[in-house]
Amino acid sequence: MKTLLIIDVQNDFIPNGSLPVPNGNQIIPVINKIQDKFDLIIGTQDWHPKDHISFASNHDEKSVFDEIEIHGQPQTLWPDHCVQGTEGAAFHPDLNTEKFEAIFRKGTDKTIDSYSAFYDNGHLKSTGLAGYLKEKRTSQLYVCGLAADICVYFSIIDALNEGFDCFFIDDASKSLDIKEFETLKKEMIAKGIQIVTSRSV
Ligand SMILES: [Zn+2]
Repeated sequence: MKTLLIIDVQNDFIPNGSLPVPNGNQIIPVINKIQDKFDLIIGTQDWHPKDHISFASNHDEKSVFDEIEIHGQPQTLWPDHCVQGTEGAAFHPDLNTEKFEAIFRKGTDKTIDSYSAFYDNGHLKSTGLAGYLKEKRTSQLYVCGLAADICVYFSIIDALNEGFDCFFIDDASKSLDIKEFETLKKEMIAKGIQIVTSRSV
């Protein structure tokens, strides 16, 4: 089963959202165009309670983008984003979601962040996505979305560790930090993830 996993194409991560990924809107037509090439399409949403630990607003005397430690892991503090049920947490209206067979939500536990669509940042709890994909007999897993250097990156690394044959769709993803992502891309290639473009899926 050739599967497309679309990470967090939500209003808050698009320019004019609360945590915009530069040019994040540009990937939407690319993602819409490739959907016909897949047998199974899954979407994810960052889906936080408003008292979520990753929001700088929930920490006294801390600013956005400060780093703290949670469960022994570094945690960047973000602007409030993707609060459950808000417009910011909704999929961007231009994203075609008709063919999504399932939507997995992450970051729902207020005490821990979840960059990956598979596990929280402490690898304490699973979202069930790996089991779902295995039951659906996913073999090749193509991953794209926002932000390439954070949620897409951590999702594809977990997917690889779960044994899926992983492909990262470069032009269907945008990163928050372009320079940092160039380093992560080399790491992905070294681990065996294939970097492809939308034309070659
Ligand atoms: Zn988040």
